[in-house]
Amino acid sequence: PKGLMWFRRDLRIDDNAALWQALRACRQVVCVFIFDKAILDALPRADRRVEFIRESLVALDTELRALGGGLIVRHAVAEDEIAALAKTLDVQAVFANRDDEPDAMARDARVFGALADVGVLLNVVKDKAIFERDEVLTQAGQPYTVFTPYKRAWLAKVDDFYLKPYPVRAYVDALAPPPADHRAPVPTLEAIGFKPTNLASLEIPTGAQGGAALFDDFVERIDRYDTARDFPAVRGPSYLGVHLRFGTVSIRQMAGTAHRLSREGSAGAATWLSELIWRDFYFQALAHRPDVARGKSFKPEYDKIIWHHGKHADGLFAAWCQGRTGYPLVDAAMAQINQSGYMHNRLRMVVASFLCKDLGLDWRRGEAYFATHLNDFELSSNNGGWQWASSSGCDAQPYFRIFNPVTQSERFDPEGKFIRRYLPQLAKLDNKVIHAPWTATPVELEAAGLKLGEHYPKPIVDHAEARERTLQRYAVVRKVA
Ligand code: FAD
Repeated sequence: PKGLMWFRRDLRIDDNAALWQALRACRQVVCVFIFDKAILDALPRADRRVEFIRESLVALDTELRALGGGLIVRHAVAEDEIAALAKTLDVQAVFANRDDEPDAMARDARVFGALADVGVLLNVVKDKAIFERDEVLTQAGQPYTVFTPYKRAWLAKVDDFYLKPYPVRAYVDALAPPPADHRAPVPTLEAIGFKPTNLASLEIPTGAQGGAALFDDFVERIDRYDTARDFPAVRGPSYLGVHLRFGTVSIRQMAGTAHRLSREGSAGAATWLSELIWRDFYFQALAHRPDVARGKSFKPEYDKIIWHHGKHADGLFAAWCQGRTGYPLVDAAMAQINQSGYMHNRLRMVVASFLCKDLGLDWRRGEAYFATHLNDFELSSNNGGWQWASSSGCDAQPYFRIFNPVTQSERFDPEGKFIRRYLPQLAKLDNKVIHAPWTATPVELEAAGLKLGEHYPKPIVDHAEARERTLQRYAVVRKVA
């Protein structure tokens, strides 16, 4: 039989579950990727993720060609194109890795139908998680809504069977090159309607090779992850989020390595594994509650909250987006995401809390902003993170816990290194006042060459007052809960 491997968010050869299945099941396997107009049309014309994908496809195509295959890349509506290709290539089955995002599931259902019409099977398998959907449930057969017992059950279930890689290389003989009339280089960004971004100057490595290089670099420092990961000025995290998102690394390799090092006594590896388990936790939460992707709170009583709205609220939101809140750690964090598409995890928590609990704005506004700006945007984790911060989520921060943006700054950027990197106008302020420039004396401000309100904004809200307003706003939840 002949098969079609449809790459989506799994842009690698090694340890690719669907590719392994296709190569084992078929004598000949042709590979395709579709720049799906249904997804791309909604994006801004300069988008680092599209460029990341494009660069990774060039690498994938080169690697596939070296193995006797190659990649057909199309710019089309996936559901039309897959069925059309299946027909012209005369394949009996299409293979792909599962994506549980509601839009992706709806698309796959339509593709399944279109393929069924031409007598072709769509075969979708698990690849991007260690455990997904109903694989880890409570004793009572319910999905977990609290992380710690979920993690315990995850760790009790995991073994070599779930962590071992799919030996794709043993079967690559079945890779077939695209027929001559389908052979073409990967289209340029311009050809699919996009402009180049600053991805190259950020030195974000792309493709499976880039992912492997980042992972090797991280494994060298993984033992320090538990102590370093909370300090945004330190190279503590792995920066692998974008590679996990687009499958240029394999989760089995990541989790397998972390699991082994953790059993050998690395506290850093154990903590990192825990973060990967959070990823699975949010995947399964979304699979069980797809309504959260349509704006619903995980805890329905939180939908009774009335958020600050109107013109003033819009102004506050614009200041948050542009990093003009007057709170240096928040503004530096927003500069980080705006310039690079990355934001450190501690800062994601700080700015999300600031949006909901200092500015009183609807978390969905922040969620949407992150969704367009994060290179590693993952619907499940982003929604989970925002609902954690707004307290409406599964295993969320209690509503009465409100981060103090100044204290967070003093604790996690004690020397103001991160702030100085992104807000050079504050660079000359003393460590004592850099976290809250409005507390500096006129002499200190002058010595630092800083005029508040001119070079850097005065705070747009007073944290103590905002805290009181937030507790009142959340009172409707307390009454119901
Ligand atoms: P590392 O610290 O090296 O972690 C390794 C990997 O573990 C990450 O790449 C990610 O896949 C996973 N991970 C780590 N923390 C979490 C977590 N809390 N929840 C789920 N998975 C986690 N993560 C995303 O991948 N995409 C998002 O869109 C996203 N949005 C977020 C929004 C908010 C408001 C918050 C508070 C967190 C969000 N996170 C998101 C989780 C986390 O901040 C990022 O995964 C992490 O910062 C990515 O950087 P890294 O790869 O260097 O992480």
